[in-house]
Amino acid sequence: MTPAIKIAGLTKAFGNTQALAGVDLEIAEGQFYGLLGPNGAGKSTTINILTGLVRKDAGSTAVFGRDTVTDFRFTRSQLGIAAQELSIDWFFPIEKLLAFQAGYYGITEKQAQPRINELLERLGLAKKRESRLRHLSGGMKRRYQLAKALIHDPKIIILDEPTAGVDVELRHELWDYLREMHQAGKTILLTTHYIEEAELLCEEVAIINEGKIIKKGNPQQLTSELGRSGITINISGWKESLNSLLAKYTCTDCDAGRLHFTMRNPEQALPEILKILVTNGVHIHRVEMEKSSLEDVFLSLTGKGIS
Ligand code: ADP
Repeated sequence: MTPAIKIAGLTKAFGNTQALAGVDLEIAEGQFYGLLGPNGAGKSTTINILTGLVRKDAGSTAVFGRDTVTDFRFTRSQLGIAAQELSIDWFFPIEKLLAFQAGYYGITEKQAQPRINELLERLGLAKKRESRLRHLSGGMKRRYQLAKALIHDPKIIILDEPTAGVDVELRHELWDYLREMHQAGKTILLTTHYIEEAELLCEEVAIINEGKIIKKGNPQQLTSELGRSGITINISGWKESLNSLLAKYTCTDCDAGRLHFTMRNPEQALPEILKILVTNGVHIHRVEMEKSSLEDVFLSLTGKGIS
């Protein structure tokens, strides 16, 4: 099947800064995809090229198999974009701004009205429909941006750092709404440097660093492949006979008072290990479980943290 988005060999330099050094991405229709990386990694540049805001140096970008440069009108009509910064349309009520936005896609104000009402209602902006953008709170501006991206009911939604600088409550609201969009069959591409956001939402992530994709995969698979999960248990009453009972677990750094097991899925192994210890008369003083995150994956690939 033709991918919703295909990016191949994309490069871009700004003066001496090589923002993108050959980016390849393929996003299937209906997928919830995350482009994860630290500030300056090239996330915005990638999506700005895809959406026609920035000109590429080399490579190709296609939406549903059609080139985003030569077939711009089609590809742009398929995308709804919530950029990081607001374009400054300060002087009209937000309801009017949404009608203008619909107009860019050939939708008349009258046709757009039900959709505008629905989006304002759903995003908690109905009471602010007459307000100017500059009178909205930061969180409301974010929601307005999302409404603007969705006005023409696009098949693909692209969000650049959708929850950067957003408080926890709104972050969760936005996540819920994005999950709903995903369930409704939309393809979603988001950029983020929040590990949690990528882990919670995305079915697939591409980790980008210094203009290159350094790893792709399902977040759970990546963390179990490259992370360092484990269990540490402080005990007393160790017995030699436990060696064979616990043989199937990899005990690293163990002594009579402290057991440390390295494993991919500590939450699955923990009950059995505790049972073996307790039924053999061992006293447990403290249990600690480490579950790796994509942060560890990034760390093991680059030697530094994401955020
Ligand atoms: P991210 O979105 O991952 O934070 P960007 O794509 O914004 O990263 O930036 C990638 C690199 O390109 C950074 O080094 C950034 O400073 C540089 N860059 C981005 N846009 C411009 C621009 N318009 N002019 C000069 N340098 C830019």
